[in-house]
Amino acid sequence: MDKSWMDEDRHTEKYINGVNFFVQFAFTHSAKGNTILCPCKNCVNCFWHEASDVREHLVCEGFVSGYRRWEYHGEESSSLRSFRDAHMEQFDEAEERDDLEEGYDELAGMIRDMRHDFGDFSDVEDEGCHNEHANECEPFQ
Ligand SMILES: [Zn+2]
Repeated sequence: MDKSWMDEDRHTEKYINGVNFFVQFAFTHSAKGNTILCPCKNCVNCFWHEASDVREHLVCEGFVSGYRRWEYHGEESSSLRSFRDAHMEQFDEAEERDDLEEGYDELAGMIRDMRHDFGDFSDVEDEGCHNEHANECEPFQ
C-alpha cells in the first residue's frame, strides 16, 4: 500500500487525499458503528471518532509518529504484538506519573496539617499586619 503521502505536508492535496483514503480504509475494515479509532497525535488510537472528526484531526494534528502500518484499522501485521506492547508501556508510565502526583498531594496535605498545628502563630502575624495597615490608612479616612 502506498503511504508516501504520510510524509507530505499536511496541507497538500496528496496528504488530504491520503487521509480520505485512510478513513475509507478504516471504515471498510475496522469501523465500530459510524466511528473508527483516531490515529492522530492526540488520540493515539485510543478514541473512537466519526469520519469528519478523524479527518480533521489528521489534517490538524497529523498521524501519531510511527503509525506506518495501520494495525488498528484492519491492516495485517506480524508486528501487532510489539506495537501494542510499546503502547502499553507508555500507558504504564503515565499511570506511574499519576501515582506520583497523588503522592505529592498527600504530602501537600500533610504540610497543610502541620501548618494548621502552628496556626496560632500565623494568626497573630496576620492581625499585626492588618493593624499596621489600618493605621497607615487612618489619616486618609
Ligand atoms: Zn484524533
